[in-house]
Amino acid sequence: MKTAISPLALLQPRSLADALRMLRDEDSLIPLAGCTDLYVSLNFGTLPGRRFLDLSRLVDLRGIRPRGECLSIGALTTFTEIRRSPIVRARLPMLVEAAAQIGAAQVQNRATIGGNIANASPAGDSLPVLAVVDANVVLRSADGERRVPFARFFTGYRQSLRRRDELIVAVEVPPIAGTQWFRKVGTRAAQSIAKVVMAAVRGPRVRVAFGSVAPTVVRVPNTEELLSSGGSLADAQQMLNAEIAPIDDLRSTAAYRLRVASNLLAAFWNETS
Ligand SMILES: Cc1cc2nc3c(=O)[nH]c(=O)nc-3n(C[C@H](O)[C@H](O)[C@H](O)COP(=O)(O)OP(=O)(O)OC[C@H]3O[C@@H](n4cnc5c(N)ncnc54)[C@H](O)[C@@H]3O)c2cc1C
Repeated sequence: MKTAISPLALLQPRSLADALRMLRDEDSLIPLAGCTDLYVSLNFGTLPGRRFLDLSRLVDLRGIRPRGECLSIGALTTFTEIRRSPIVRARLPMLVEAAAQIGAAQVQNRATIGGNIANASPAGDSLPVLAVVDANVVLRSADGERRVPFARFFTGYRQSLRRRDELIVAVEVPPIAGTQWFRKVGTRAAQSIAKVVMAAVRGPRVRVAFGSVAPTVVRVPNTEELLSSGGSLADAQQMLNAEIAPIDDLRSTAAYRLRVASNLLAAFWNETS
């Protein structure tokens, strides 16, 4: 029997340097991590390429460790590893909550944080957390390394600043003061893509980010400013309505998403007061 994967090629570099050289030298190579997104598009026949770069042996992309003041999370870190990590639980509990709501256990065992970022879906559950803490995406190519602030990383629907010859090697999270909060609203408790997802921090400065309400994950600076300067929740909800522009799609309607986003803002504010 001929399966969907029989005409495909898999390159298996043993080092990051080899992987980056392969990416530089071959235009249409597709990096492959946990394969939970890729396998779906492979089966739908929507993948542009047929040659893949297996990242699984690249130890440099693994591990969660402090780096200066920041917490560095390797791109190949799975959501199960995030859920179990003592340092993430201590410093970034909202990422642990997000990880626990990605797919279900089988998906969390394979799906990586690097894949969630690179996939650039506006509904990626880890993305509002990374947006709200002003994380940096660490990208490496054969020519060197650069750090891109999360706020600039996504340039449009499923588009990012990552060049074709670059890999995401890690995401770096600066220290964050205040009470962290995360909530996802989907059709079911598990195996559901977010209709609306929100991460927020109530600290010296209020920070709020949403997924699934725009072509990319978004911060809502005017709403944040209003709440930070002592404005009322009602005014902040009104401001939020003007700051996001969700759409109707197969998972929900714009009107429902607006209402849910507003309710989530209220839940955050009331539960952290
Ligand atoms: C049943 C099911 C349920 C799901 N539920 C959720 C959910 O609830 N929430 C959610 O957010 N997502 C969900 N997903 C989507 C998916 O699991 C996540 O987006 C996951 O984080 C992708 O990671 P991966 O390692 O599997 O990526 P892969 O599928 O291996 O790759 C995804 C994309 O990222 C690129 N890529 C991967 N790693 C790198 C890297 N280090 N550098 C550069 N490019 C890279 C690949 O080329 C590809 O374009 C679900 C998927 C399935 C199949």
